[in-house]
Amino acid sequence: MNFDHLKKREIKIVEVGPRDGLQNEKVTLSLEDKLGYIDLLAKTGLKTIEATSFVRADRIPQMADAPALFFELSQRSYFDKISFPCLVPNLVGYEQAIASGVKEISLFSATSDAFTAKNINCSVDESFKRMEEVASKAKKDGIKMRGYISTAFGCPYAGEMSAEKLAEVAERFLKLGVYEVSIGDTIGVAVPSQVHKYISVLKDRVNLSKVAMHFHDTRGMAVANCLVSLQHGVTVFDASSGGLGGCPYAKGATGNVATEDLLYLFHSLGLKTGVDIEAIAKASQFILSKVGKSSPSKYYQSIEKNL
Ligand code: MG
Repeated sequence: MNFDHLKKREIKIVEVGPRDGLQNEKVTLSLEDKLGYIDLLAKTGLKTIEATSFVRADRIPQMADAPALFFELSQRSYFDKISFPCLVPNLVGYEQAIASGVKEISLFSATSDAFTAKNINCSVDESFKRMEEVASKAKKDGIKMRGYISTAFGCPYAGEMSAEKLAEVAERFLKLGVYEVSIGDTIGVAVPSQVHKYISVLKDRVNLSKVAMHFHDTRGMAVANCLVSLQHGVTVFDASSGGLGGCPYAKGATGNVATEDLLYLFHSLGLKTGVDIEAIAKASQFILSKVGKSSPSKYYQSIEKNL
């Protein structure tokens, strides 16, 4: 394996622990604990931290404090040096996010109609109509947009998804005006051979410099899948510190790939991330103690006693 061609640029980690991670933990933390976690993450060298989501509090009570959290964040000295994208499902969430000082939003859809029907009560096509409304406002307001594609490899209701559908939805997102589209293995079923096949199809239709990969470690394949993506030239990866979060479709299963595991991989290949692995582990230690669980990250487990 030779990654010399990637050594000129930095591999970017999009830290999703405070949103994707905490949203999938059963415990709802206090605002103070969430801010304490983000304060620690902000010291690690990360340049993008997904902060929260502006969703209905009755649907996702873990994120009910989004306006208060974002206001506090906007007062921090590091606020202008780091991007803090927030998830918005529709115009109502968008308006709330903007009123709270959000500068970057994440929009989301999926490749599976069965998934969007259960998750956001509409088809994939209809979800794009909703997102177009938000995107046109965001463009006028000068707000940056990131896109998320769920069920890229497999759907909990419809099974395996096709590479062509993934490429089609990714193209649609880029046309919407997102600067980056994150390809999500929502249920953690992808394996390296599938990732190789899907990215091979994807790279014929979209520019891979606008693609991020978002793997879940449900079946232990996330790090291997990231390596295959890297071999194809993907240089942006979503991860959550300590492997925070779970999988709503597999009770007790692990969620997002751990930031520590990815950093260990990338640094071992001589690649730069600008992120301090020990500082990430300290942030994980803090938040895991608040959530009351141990980390599924193998790297974290190996250094936990020495933190
Ligand atoms: Mg995730």
